[in-house]
Amino acid sequence: MSNTHAKVAADELTQAPEKPKAVAKHKAQQHRSKPFGSLRSKFSLFVLAATLITTLVVSLISTHATREFLHSRVEQKLPSLLKQTADKVKLWYDQRLHEITVFASASTLIEAITDYTVHGQEQSRKEAARFLGYLLQNSPKFSGLFVLGKNHEPIVWVGQQITLSRAFLDNNTITNSASLSDVIISADQVIQIASSPLLEFQEKKLGTLNAILTMDSLEEHLKSSELSATALMFLVDSNENYIASNQSIPADYMTMQELPTQPQEPILKEYTNRKQHVVGSALFVPEIKSTLVVEESYTENFAPVVNIFWRTLAINLGIALLFSIGAYRIAISISRPVEALSKGVQQIADGKTNVLIKETSSNDEINMLTRAFNTMTARLHEKTKALQQLSVTDGLTGLYNHRFFQLYLSREEKIAKQKGRELALILCDIDNFKAWNDRLGHGEGDKILEKVAEVLKRHTRRSDLVARYGGDEFIIVAPNTKLEVALELAEQLRRVVADKVSVPNEPELRTSITISAGVATYTKDSKTLFNDADQALYRAKEAGRNCVRAVGIKYVDTVNDSV
Ligand code: GH3
Ligand code: MG
Repeated sequence: MSNTHAKVAADELTQAPEKPKAVAKHKAQQHRSKPFGSLRSKFSLFVLAATLITTLVVSLISTHATREFLHSRVEQKLPSLLKQTADKVKLWYDQRLHEITVFASASTLIEAITDYTVHGQEQSRKEAARFLGYLLQNSPKFSGLFVLGKNHEPIVWVGQQITLSRAFLDNNTITNSASLSDVIISADQVIQIASSPLLEFQEKKLGTLNAILTMDSLEEHLKSSELSATALMFLVDSNENYIASNQSIPADYMTMQELPTQPQEPILKEYTNRKQHVVGSALFVPEIKSTLVVEESYTENFAPVVNIFWRTLAINLGIALLFSIGAYRIAISISRPVEALSKGVQQIADGKTNVLIKETSSNDEINMLTRAFNTMTARLHEKTKALQQLSVTDGLTGLYNHRFFQLYLSREEKIAKQKGRELALILCDIDNFKAWNDRLGHGEGDKILEKVAEVLKRHTRRSDLVARYGGDEFIIVAPNTKLEVALELAEQLRRVVADKVSVPNEPELRTSITISAGVATYTKDSKTLFNDADQALYRAKEAGRNCVRAVGIKYVDTVNDSV
């Protein structure tokens, strides 16, 4: 079956039937993909979600841990700072009291004051003033020094002048040791006075030596590098008078609103002051009847936590993005071949068998599957081809069979109709084959059929289709062929068969096998075409066999052959 036209036609004509509507509908549904329905988007979304959730959880946990850590640090920092500062403040006051005690015990001063109070020596008073002036000059922590007599009358006064309140004077008793006054507001200035008894020999009371304290030097002790720039630390008395502070207290500042006023131990508290979230602590210093307060902005304290949170989140988001891109790429490397495989399977379901999917260089499971798929489709293709061939082939002669002849004829008929092309048919029948068959046996008869088929095949053109019509009948479809040419071809075939096909092992028989042929060309339809050829064949048989006849041509028939 070397006829190329017929081969192409065989491929076309034996294709699987068109897919039914239900299959087509199912396929259309498959192709209408849902959003995120693909393996690749599912996988990428899963990895993105997994990394994002992990990221958020890790960020929250680490932020929480950092916050706890900072909280504990702040909890420790502010109270311990308060205690340290309280000690410094106490020490500062102690030093001032000690200084005033030392000053009050100076004999120059005692003698001068005694002279003045007992003897009214104005000169001695001047002497005392000169001495106090000298002391004041060398005591930067004091802004004024003055001596009050037994009846609180001022005797000597150097440096800052203030008006003494009744309350101060009432408390200014001559005791045995130095003492500190309550806070005094003088000309909008907060001051405190350290007083020491001024005693003559044999403990005779002369009056008191008083020093106005310069709070600026105390404020130095309230400044700490451990505090942020905006943090406040101040000393406040029970009447909420600020004694000293590390920086100027804002006008709208709410003193001791949230903190206990006289706490024995510093306790950390979180609250809002001046619309600001703050952490604060307070500690009562009984020695100076004041409370030391520290207050720091919460945000500033916890800024590192917020910073860490955003930084961790940014790093983790970056990692999540990288992982997602990686996952997407892996998903693509899986889903692409899977999609190709699924398309391949769909093509096979649609009846195509020569489906090959591109293999990758990797040796992974997907590629193994692709390779197995390709092997499977190659085998399927081979088998399908073989089956197709079988379905169009006559088992005995290897020529095309009757079924295929019918398909081919209707295909050629269509072409003949569409293009107005000529189409010829040659119907051949072995002469007296029944007799040969009966005489030689069925097996030998088959050999004759094979031999005739082979000769017909070999001596027809590439464009002709030779088929076994049935029994001892063969048919040749000759497209694009005029009647004369077809007649010539039929005649040639007749001659060659008579020439080449002989009966072996039967010397007593006439050795030539002959055929008769009827030739017709397409006029109306394929049925008429066949009937005409059949009619012509009948004529050939009538004319004595081993001859060619065509409908519409007049012959002078002679009987020229018989078994
Ligand atoms: P005619 O010249 O008029 O054609 O005479 P004939 O004897 O050839 O008559 P016919 O064509 O009707 O006979 C065909 C015979 O072919 C009948 C049948 O026994 C035989 N035959 C049909 N198919 C086969 C086959 O496959 N193998 C063999 N060996 N014989 C077959
Ligand atoms: Mg016959």
